[in-house]
Amino acid sequence: MHGIKRRASHLNTQRVDHIYEDPHTENRKFNLHYGDLTDSSNLTRILRDTQPDEVYNLGAQSHVAVSFEAPEYTADVDAIGTLRLLEAIRFLGLEKKTRFYQASTSELFGLVQEAPQRETTPFYPRSPYAVAKMYAYWITVNYREAYGIYACNGILFNHESPRRGETFVTRKITRGLSNIAMGLEPCLYMGNIDALRDWGHAKDYVRMQWMMLQQLQPEDFVIATGVQYSVREFIQWTAKELGITLEFSGSGIDEVATVTAIEGDMAPALKPGDVIVKIDPRYFRPAEVETLLGDPSKAKQNLGWTPEMPRTCALKWCARTTRQRAAMPCSS
Ligand code: GDP
Repeated sequence: MHGIKRRASHLNTQRVDHIYEDPHTENRKFNLHYGDLTDSSNLTRILRDTQPDEVYNLGAQSHVAVSFEAPEYTADVDAIGTLRLLEAIRFLGLEKKTRFYQASTSELFGLVQEAPQRETTPFYPRSPYAVAKMYAYWITVNYREAYGIYACNGILFNHESPRRGETFVTRKITRGLSNIAMGLEPCLYMGNIDALRDWGHAKDYVRMQWMMLQQLQPEDFVIATGVQYSVREFIQWTAKELGITLEFSGSGIDEVATVTAIEGDMAPALKPGDVIVKIDPRYFRPAEVETLLGDPSKAKQNLGWTPEMPRTCALKWCARTTRQRAAMPCSS
């Protein structure tokens, strides 16, 4: 197995450290190469040297809000980066050997044209991120049709885990509320808490990425749970896991959440009456994706895929990470 890491002046391999192997280990199973989706010669050389059977393009500037701040970089990495990988496969004559997985996204549906969203739902991207991913989606389809590359798009709805980046909404909430419970932060400032998302667990979704590359014919699939919740509900669940009951009041930018009751000893810094969630318009996006709800029927019927993590998986892992954070305040 080979991975690509970007050079940074700080160590940035935390998420793969548990499978990292010392370069002196004989017959290593996992190798990391310096590389970048903006560098075609580098990608071509890595593919030439490693001759992979499968390539999973999970690399991206993946934050929707950041894509409004850095749209050109997002397009370069997310759109043209995908083209660079496909071109490297073609240039090296690996069309018949190397299977290609493209991390497509529910953000493609953006201003949703039907609910729930399935493989045939028209796209309507709402951010520079989604527009870049739309190019990547179609160039993957195009290289499949034009050059016979086994290339597939997994259209994955939001999938979470304790490894999720800390500025995505789920981790921001679990991290923020557990810090507040311990007295390390006074208040959590949120954007649009009316947004509805279909949250699944990354473990289930990554298994499906692999399954997609093991079929006879390459095809595109929606991967989702088929259930949606609001960001506000997610805040309430997280609070509950810390023994905190929250009540929302007010509306728009004046909406707040107030502590009404506390059970147990996980929130020693709080008392009833404390206001611990407020709205800050800086977290609103210039164009928002208000609602996402996926229909994973095709994946279920054709591949027998069903999420193994329970329906409320987002809540369950959230509870776990929340407890960990609360137990280890010094790590923040
Ligand atoms: P996304 O679905 O790929 O944009 O994933 P995120 O986890 O970043 O955001 C999910 C939803 O939560 C979006 O509709 C955001 O607008 C909404 N949201 C509300 N407040 C926040 C916030 O403070 N940070 C983030 N990241 N999202 C927020």
